[in-house]
Amino acid sequence: MAGQRILVVEDEEALREGLIESFTGQGFSAQPCARGDLALAAVESFKPDLIVLDLMLPGMHGLEICKALRARGASLPIIMLTAMADEQQVINGLQAGADDYIAKPFRLAELQARVQAQLRRAQAAFGAALELPGCRVDLIRGEVVREGKSTSLTQLEVELLKFLLKSRPSPVSRENLLVEVWGYKQAIATRTVDMAVAKLRAKVERNVGKPEVIITVRDSGYRLELPGAAK
Ligand code: CA
Repeated sequence: MAGQRILVVEDEEALREGLIESFTGQGFSAQPCARGDLALAAVESFKPDLIVLDLMLPGMHGLEICKALRARGASLPIIMLTAMADEQQVINGLQAGADDYIAKPFRLAELQARVQAQLRRAQAAFGAALELPGCRVDLIRGEVVREGKSTSLTQLEVELLKFLLKSRPSPVSRENLLVEVWGYKQAIATRTVDMAVAKLRAKVERNVGKPEVIITVRDSGYRLELPGAAK
């Protein structure tokens, strides 16, 4: 699963740098964040697939960060780093929405194994079909089934849906989509995205005139809604 993104929120410099180096060496794209109060903004801009989150952080406690992310509807895996195998800390962490925890000091290989396991789990959940009003989207097979009839999605449409899904509930700008989904080095033209979204809406929306799934956010871009899903 090379190329997936990991955000490392840890104030201890040596550990943070060691983790970044280790994840980068494994083929991940890893970004450091040294302060708790910068973590939410880092999630917004970096859009990680997984977060390794320390608890005791300057500016904002790891538990608060975790709660805030879940409250926003972010579903990405969060692995907490607890300072000691303090049972209460672990319970609090899991209650705040963490998926796993590892007590310091830990072996890097152990953390890597936990990361891989969480990413596999997230990938599996991700691959599960999206239930939308009036249709079901299978992201693995790349098809939309509506009233028993199936329409296939292009690879680009699948990637576009996956990126919007991963970024949910935040909107993604057209420029960002061109870079992340289309692979442009630098994004200038934006009609490309609007045209692709129009085609995709024709496949997944009940009424293209009133989109319920791919929402246009003024001055921001597009946002994926899962009507009926937990916010
Ligand atoms: Ca700390």
